[in-house]
Amino acid sequence: MKTLSLLLFFFINITCKENATVYICNGPGAKKYHYTSNCRGLSNCTYKIIKEEIEKAKKDGKTLCGWEK
Ligand SMILES: [Zn+2]
Repeated sequence: MKTLSLLLFFFINITCKENATVYICNGPGAKKYHYTSNCRGLSNCTYKIIKEEIEKAKKDGKTLCGWEK
């Protein structure tokens, strides 16, 4: 039973990731979104790094950061 709940926990985690949350720099000049919060493109962000749904980021005119592949 414990193993099952652990598996379920991982499954939910994966599902959440596929729900496509991205990280953006919450600054006025931010035009990119990132898959990871420790991306090189975010390292020089002087504003707050926030999580956002990828669809919303795209709607705001943001594009995938050049460091992501
Ligand atoms: Zn990035």
